[in-house]
Amino acid sequence: MILLANSEAWPGFSKSVELLKAGRHGIDAMVAGIGEVEREVKVRSVGFGGWPNMLGRMEFDAGVMDGTTRQVGAVGAVPDTLPVAALAHEVMKRLPHVMLTGEGARRFATEIGFPHDETLYEESKRVWWERLEKELSAEELARFPNIPLAPLSRTITDPERVRDTTVFLSRDSAAGLNVVTSTSGWAWKYPGRLGDSPIPGAGFYADSRFGAAACTHTGEMTMRCGTARSIVLAMRLGHSLDDAVALAIEELCELKDGFLAGVVIHALDAHGNHKVVSLNCDEQIKYWFWDESLSEPEHRVAQSFKS
Ligand code: ASP
Repeated sequence: MILLANSEAWPGFSKSVELLKAGRHGIDAMVAGIGEVEREVKVRSVGFGGWPNMLGRMEFDAGVMDGTTRQVGAVGAVPDTLPVAALAHEVMKRLPHVMLTGEGARRFATEIGFPHDETLYEESKRVWWERLEKELSAEELARFPNIPLAPLSRTITDPERVRDTTVFLSRDSAAGLNVVTSTSGWAWKYPGRLGDSPIPGAGFYADSRFGAAACTHTGEMTMRCGTARSIVLAMRLGHSLDDAVALAIEELCELKDGFLAGVVIHALDAHGNHKVVSLNCDEQIKYWFWDESLSEPEHRVAQSFKS
C-alpha cells in the first residue's frame, strides 16, 4: 500500500493511511482524509480556508478516479459545500454522468442530504475586499459588482501567492491505483472558472494497470497539455515513470503563450515507484509519502526543474 499527497494534505494524511491499513478502498480512504483538509481553516487553498472568486464567493472543484474501473466523478464551481471530494465521489456512484457544476452540483448535494455549509472565512473576505479596494476606483467600488470583471482578471487574480489544491494518490490493499483532488482554485478567479482539479486527464488520472498522476498549481497549463493522462498513457506505451514525467514536462515547456507559471506533478507507477517534480516554482515544494515500510508518513522534498 502507498499514499502520496501534496504538502497541504497534513490534516488528513494520517487518517487516510489508517483507513488504507484497515483495508478500505483507496477512494474511501482518501475522501475521508481530504474531508479533514477541507474543514481545516489553516489550509489556505482548499475548503473553508480557501480564497473566494472575484465576487467574494467560494466556488470549489474536486475529482475522484478509480483506476481499476476508470470510473470518474467530478464537481466544479460548487457553492455552499465543503466536502466536495465526497460530493464528486457521490456523482461517480449515483449518476450516469461524470461531472456536475455550479447550481446543478449544489442541487444534487441537497438531494442526497449534504447540508448547506458556511464556506467564506471572515479573514478571506477581509483580504478579498482590501485587494479590490486597492485595484478599483471609488466609482467602480460604488458600482461593484456591476462592473466588467474581465479586465480585473489580468490584475487581481493572484495565482502565485494564494492558490493550491490538495491531491491524494494511493495504491490500496487490492493494488488499485486511485486519485482524489479538492481545491478552491485560484484566488479572485473569474466566477465560473474551472481549474484542472475537476478535469480528468488534466488534473488527475489513474489506471491501476500502469499508474496514476495528479497536478497542482497552474491548471491553465495542465488542461492544455492533458498532463495527467499523458503520464499514464506514456507508461502504458512502455515508458518508465521517470520518462513519462519527463515527457509531460517537455509538453508543458513547449507552451510559449497564454498564462504560464509553475506546475507540480505527483505520479505513481504500478510497481510501487513514485515521483514528485515541480516545474518553474519559486518555492521549495514538499510532499507526503507513506508506504508499508514506513512507520510514519514522511514529508519529503520534491525534485525541482526550471525551464
Ligand atoms: N491547479 C489548481 C487550479 O488550477 C490550483 C493549484 O493547485 O494551485 O485550480
